[in-house]
Amino acid sequence: MIYDKNIECMDRESLEALQSERLVKQIKRVYERVPLFKKRMDDLNLKPSDIKSIKDLPKLPFSNKQDLRDNYPYGLFAEPLENVVRIHASSGTTGKQIVVGYTKGDLDMWALCVSRALNSYGIDKNDILQVCYGYGLFTGGLGLHDGASHLGCTVIPASTGNTVRQMNTMVDFGATAICATPSYCMYLAEELESNNLRDKLKVKKAVLGAEPWGEEMRKQIESKLGIKAYDIYGLSEVLGPGVSYECECQKGLHINEDMFIPEIINPDTGEVLPDGEVGELVFTSITKEAFPVIRYRTHDLCRILTGKCSCGRTFKRMGRIEGRTDDMLIIRGVNVFPSQIEEVLLKYGEGITPNYQIIVDRVNNTDTLEVKVEMNEDFFFDDVKSIELISSKIRDNLRSVLGLSAQVTLVGPKTIERSEGKAKRVIDKRVIR
Ligand SMILES: [Zn+2]
Repeated sequence: MIYDKNIECMDRESLEALQSERLVKQIKRVYERVPLFKKRMDDLNLKPSDIKSIKDLPKLPFSNKQDLRDNYPYGLFAEPLENVVRIHASSGTTGKQIVVGYTKGDLDMWALCVSRALNSYGIDKNDILQVCYGYGLFTGGLGLHDGASHLGCTVIPASTGNTVRQMNTMVDFGATAICATPSYCMYLAEELESNNLRDKLKVKKAVLGAEPWGEEMRKQIESKLGIKAYDIYGLSEVLGPGVSYECECQKGLHINEDMFIPEIINPDTGEVLPDGEVGELVFTSITKEAFPVIRYRTHDLCRILTGKCSCGRTFKRMGRIEGRTDDMLIIRGVNVFPSQIEEVLLKYGEGITPNYQIIVDRVNNTDTLEVKVEMNEDFFFDDVKSIELISSKIRDNLRSVLGLSAQVTLVGPKTIERSEGKAKRVIDKRVIR
């Protein structure tokens, strides 16, 4: 598959015709090859021939992560293993791993999706891209790697870990772009600064994903490193990174709609919501061969943005992930998303770092919320007055955003454990007990 921006700028009518054609084929294929899907269709008295265009999508049954666990490892594959050339897996927080497979064609399609993303960030064959995502079963490392190779970039497969070597590689090999989780990128930015390496960097762009992050974090990463930071979205069950990507406008992420049809649903009723409304993001993969998903519930909450993007791409845009239907904390009956707390801390800024931990507990049948925030090095631990002032201000800001009182504890610089993969931000002791 050759990179061609015209596809991303295709008129909606032709795009929807293409989606319909691919959906019809895919449903027939999956019905014949995946027993669980056939059973679900039969239960609804639905035949593949009832699906004539994308307008019929809402008739189809949903699928979810539990289906992958129940059919572990290969039960939902639509191709025999002799045609599968790659396996990836993600360790779920609970229970068995989620296993996904790719044919040679799937890997080509994935590389194309990622190369569209990189291209939209202005990354090309003249760039040296250091991939600081994990290689291995996680889709991040190899996903970005193949997409960047497809585009002709010079790829440095640095993977995660060993931050000192990571930084030296970045400087010595002249990386012009890096790819990492936003929390690791922030950590790298801190370390580069304290090792006086910031001025030796050639990095101009960062491709960040695999964790939800917000505008405030983007501002901080961009100003700390003097770079542009772009969002890339994906999940192993649907593809890996490259399902959607920002363009130069940085106003939402264009979805690779010729491969994946998005829907936004009400997570409680399953009803499809109109563009612009926040709900759970659902994907149907219409070109994937080995492991296609039909109406897969991502648990990510976001909206499809309305209106045209000035970059010229016609692929629909999704807004940033506003939360998860399953990592939403319910504290004293109030819905709380860790991203809301992060936003408050990043906005406050002065005297603190964006490293934090949320601790939820239950004392005397009442939920408690504690937010541990790391101070930066400009503050001294014995300056009790400043500490009290900062924590009471943050407490007030949290109360006005969450509608909930929280205990704010300021801790010394670099005492909250750093993560080189996804940051562990929430400790819910109510669950552990
Ligand atoms: Zn755009």
